[in-house]
Amino acid sequence: MAHIATVEREYSSVSKRRTSKSANGTVTIEVEREEHEEIKLCHFHELPDWQKDNEFILTGYVRETNSIKKCLRSLGCFNNESINIYSHLIAAISYFVVLLFYTDILCIPSFPSTTFVDYMVIDLYLLGAFTCLIGSSLFHCMKQHSESHSDMWSKVDYIGIICLITCSLISLLYYGYMDHFIYFKVFTVITLVLATICTICVLDQRFNSKNFRPIRAGFFILFSMSAVIPIGAGFSKFGFTEVLQRIQLRFVAWETFFYVVGALLYGFRIPETLYPGNFDLVGSSHQIFHIMVILGSVFHLKAVLGSYTFMHSNISSNSFTLSS
Ligand SMILES: [Zn+2]
Repeated sequence: MAHIATVEREYSSVSKRRTSKSANGTVTIEVEREEHEEIKLCHFHELPDWQKDNEFILTGYVRETNSIKKCLRSLGCFNNESINIYSHLIAAISYFVVLLFYTDILCIPSFPSTTFVDYMVIDLYLLGAFTCLIGSSLFHCMKQHSESHSDMWSKVDYIGIICLITCSLISLLYYGYMDHFIYFKVFTVITLVLATICTICVLDQRFNSKNFRPIRAGFFILFSMSAVIPIGAGFSKFGFTEVLQRIQLRFVAWETFFYVVGALLYGFRIPETLYPGNFDLVGSSHQIFHIMVILGSVFHLKAVLGSYTFMHSNISSNSFTLSS
């Protein structure tokens, strides 16, 4: 009769039972038990040093889990990251659904001059928005794992922001300079060079340090503001009124407003600096920043679609001619 040994690992409720048989006939049954203790929220002063980032948010923290499963389980427990996670998760899924199913049915009216490139440009923007929002959602869910995971996911978050800015700029440059393609090419190359420099910077360990928060906010604002160069060039080439139409400047202005105000609130931690402890679960600067990012991205989509419609209407009526 085979000798049977049972080894138990971890404790709480049984999740897996694995049986193996060695050469001498010993059967080993390994009963693995998963950690099933509840996620307990803790106070700022109970956090390990690496998790202490915002001293004005006093409660509602998920303490270092050292477990991906626990990080995922924290999704079911309302904590001070819940709004950050779900706001961008829901928006990311929405953009992905639009990207997959609705771009040609709902959003894009068809003109005689419409080609697959138009779908690609608009889908590129949707993909950029999805990448940014899903990266951010994953970061906020996984950052409580450990310091090394937090560092790694924060880089995913920053690269997502760079993707969103890059895809936003390229999509609008395409329509703004659709009939002057050489300008589109030049400004796209400049945007890609800036995006590469930004990526190199965010991969540097110093970029993620606590003292760099206002610099991080300013850094992304500056990259977005590089749009001033092609817009300025557009003013001198086409005049103010036409640029207003070409890139749907009123929507771009709203987009800029939401991104800049959101980044400033994030950088200066308003409102929790003014009333520490009052915005622990709902209403903190980071949560407002997330909502502002969603609103900014929606206004950009409106600008791209409006710009597409304006340019193709004029091409169809022979007001503009396409050049290469
Ligand atoms: Zn965030």
